[in-house]
Amino acid sequence: MWQEYLFPASVEEALVMLAQWNGRARLIAGGTDLVLEFNEGKHESTVDCLVDITRIPELKEITLEGDTIIVGAAVTFRQLDDSPLIRERATVLAEAAHAVGSLQIRNVATLGGNVVSAFPAADGSLGLSALDAEAEIADSQGRRWVPLEELFGGPGQSRIDATAQVLTALRFKALGAREGSAYERLARRRALALPILACGVAVGLSEDGNTFQWARISLGPVAPVPFRARRTEEFLAGAKVSPETMARAGEIALSESHPRTSLLRASKEYRQEMIKVLVRRGLERAVKSGG
Ligand SMILES: Cc1cc2nc3c(=O)[nH]c(=O)nc-3n(C[C@H](O)[C@H](O)[C@H](O)COP(=O)(O)OP(=O)(O)OC[C@H]3O[C@@H](n4cnc5c(N)ncnc54)[C@H](O)[C@@H]3O)c2cc1C
Repeated sequence: MWQEYLFPASVEEALVMLAQWNGRARLIAGGTDLVLEFNEGKHESTVDCLVDITRIPELKEITLEGDTIIVGAAVTFRQLDDSPLIRERATVLAEAAHAVGSLQIRNVATLGGNVVSAFPAADGSLGLSALDAEAEIADSQGRRWVPLEELFGGPGQSRIDATAQVLTALRFKALGAREGSAYERLARRRALALPILACGVAVGLSEDGNTFQWARISLGPVAPVPFRARRTEEFLAGAKVSPETMARAGEIALSESHPRTSLLRASKEYRQEMIKVLVRRGLERAVKSGG
């Protein structure tokens, strides 16, 4: 169990603290994943100090710079759900945030913690993935932006080392005219359950609204990491907006996904059926919100 609990005032101070503890200190944000892991006996022998990043002002801000939305890693799902900017120009992320846990969980759980926990069905990661987000990492080498997808190594395996690196922010292009997005989610009950299946969709439409110019589709859990349905996206680019196109997109998404049976949530066969439904519904709603 940890002996020290520290509150850095800046990212730089957090990095100094991590370095001083030489791998035996770990970052904590809302603690909704990490504290459970401690309760399960994980990290017992490896973590002596927790470095709490929730009082670092820059990590708690949502800003718009030009056309780019930047979300600090310690922004909570409640903040995302409440933000008019996110609701209007990144609807898929606002809807994903609204679906997380319960109000109590959303009050403390952070977007950055969701990404670093690296679950293939993580709602925050799936919302970000549909927005083609990038992540900023700070460590002893400085700061750099990397594609979100590079952070996922497998189920529960992040490529960010939370004993030496800080995920500082997520950024993505704000959706504009004739662009829309939506998040579809299926769970055993509305609150406090990870999704059986979830699908994030963002689309850009032609001037007359009759053609998809581009589409991005995220799905989970259908692979070891939050999944982008790239073949479906390729099919949609340039395709006519029609019920047939959207139904076909669902079929292609199914063919490139690999859902598994989970004892707690659903069978592989059920998930396969529902991939077609969620992709179609997500596209319909995204088109409507962009039209
Ligand atoms: C009852 C309950 C319901 C839940 N429901 C859902 C749900 O519906 N959907 C869903 O997606 N998730 C759900 N979760 C999971 C959890 O709430 C999220 O994954 C949450 O976003 C994690 O964020 P946190 O701030 O609590 O992270 P923490 O638990 O503080 O940290 C998680 C991990 O990230 C690391 N870390 C945190 N911040 C940073 C950073 N900035 N840089 C580097 N490393 C960092 C920590 O060291 C730790 O390894 C639920 C959890 C509970 C307990």
